Amino acid sequence: MNSCDYRIFWEEAVKQLREEIGESIDLWFSRISYERSSESHIVLSVPSAFFRDQVRQRYEVSIEKKLYELFGTPIQLSFEVKHIQPAQDSPANTALPVGVEHSVGKAAEEQHTGIIPEAETPPQQNRSLFTGGAKKKATEAAQNPHPLLNDRYTFDKFVIDDDNPLPANAALAVSKNPGSSYNPLLIYGGVGLGKTHLMQAIGNELHNRGLKIMYTTAENFTNEFIEFLHKNKMHEFKNKYRNADALLIDDIHFFDKKEGTQEELFHTFNALYESKRQIVFTCDRPVEELKNLSERLRSRFTRGLSVDLKIPSYETRCAILFKKIEADNLAIPKEVVELLAKNISSNVRDLEGALTKLRAYSELTGPITMEIAQRLMQDVFGSPRQHNISVDSIQKIVADYFNISFVDLKSKKRTKNISFPRQVAMYLAREMTDFSTTELGVEFGGRDHSTIMHGHQKIETQIAITPSLEVNIAELKKRITNAAK
Ligand code: ADP
Ligand code: MG
Repeated sequence: MNSCDYRIFWEEAVKQLREEIGESIDLWFSRISYERSSESHIVLSVPSAFFRDQVRQRYEVSIEKKLYELFGTPIQLSFEVKHIQPAQDSPANTALPVGVEHSVGKAAEEQHTGIIPEAETPPQQNRSLFTGGAKKKATEAAQNPHPLLNDRYTFDKFVIDDDNPLPANAALAVSKNPGSSYNPLLIYGGVGLGKTHLMQAIGNELHNRGLKIMYTTAENFTNEFIEFLHKNKMHEFKNKYRNADALLIDDIHFFDKKEGTQEELFHTFNALYESKRQIVFTCDRPVEELKNLSERLRSRFTRGLSVDLKIPSYETRCAILFKKIEADNLAIPKEVVELLAKNISSNVRDLEGALTKLRAYSELTGPITMEIAQRLMQDVFGSPRQHNISVDSIQKIVADYFNISFVDLKSKKRTKNISFPRQVAMYLAREMTDFSTTELGVEFGGRDHSTIMHGHQKIETQIAITPSLEVNIAELKKRITNAAK
């Protein structure tokens, strides 16, 4: 029997979070209900899978931290999706079934969206791979998603850009015939253009066919390499990466300047390549622009096929939005889709971000109209990159805002009161200017481009879970834009 009841801790946590963050959290928290508890575990219910994902992204860390403070040992949260009867005035909800599903797994969303689970779609088969044991493995694999791959990153969810079909077609070809003509496949291009999606689509496809897929980021590969080296367990590291049927390494620009890891990667590459295993890399720029990469590794990276992802055309941007709207069963008018596609031409991630914003609004308040979309998107559209914004002015405004000196902001000092504003400045510089991370590294006292990426990522994640930071960032953006006028 379960004698735990953490309801009062949950209620106290919400109360304290409201005091700290502000009443804005009610928008979300008023629709979360406490359900029950078991040992170190609270179950909450939410009205939709989308709502759950948003709450997790924005508040899960803060809630768990607060519960830990209050209770003294960690309490885990899980969410159940309880579909409620659609509100009369909300066409977005009309298709929702009434019922309860557990939040984990995809069941809730499939029922919600009507998407056929991927495992039921027969994968395109390469006959030569389907013999005996491989077939059995394939069946098992199709039932178990790969733990390191996002199961949403599949080919059927990727819209091929008519103006630039090569990257997607090359990835498809690799997924049909791994280890043959395009080896390695190198996918490069700016942020948010679908590199990780395409790479993982290859991984998912091959995984479903029973192949052993190793997916990692260059950063993770580097960290693991150092860790195994320290533990004197290099043989384990080698086994892990050299036993794969396909090796996927994301964001290889991170290898710039990491000589030791480059050496190890070179040997891993050769071992796999010689035994005709497929290798796929992604990079945020052409490999020629990686300055501190050994020549022999550079030649390995580009030995197969390199494809360049570009910003998709207007028509493709519309198609991407329509696809997501249809998959998620959203009620967003066509003219709003066109408005987004016309005004957001930075990358696909930004396009998705805009859609998420509209979706959150419609979940919480009501249907989206053109007027509402225009109002909600004001700050998204209203801030096209101004070309006269300098990194210098961003740094000065941020230093001033946080009451630290400009010199300290650019220095190597690592105390928190300085490193945090520095990361905020890195985030803003990346968001508001067109400088590459390498150029920004120079502007920030001769730092590595990966430091800029790390700073940007850290603030981006924190904004998602700390609404008060979002307010500070908006204020800083306003000051920077005004100063450049
Ligand atoms: P990158 O790795 O290049 O930074 P991602 O692969 O993470 O970009 O893509 C960012 C987001 O945009 C992901 O959610 C991805 O699914 C989506 N996306 C990118 N390109 C497309 C496309 N052509 N069709 C559908 N979704 C896309
Ligand atoms: Mg990526």
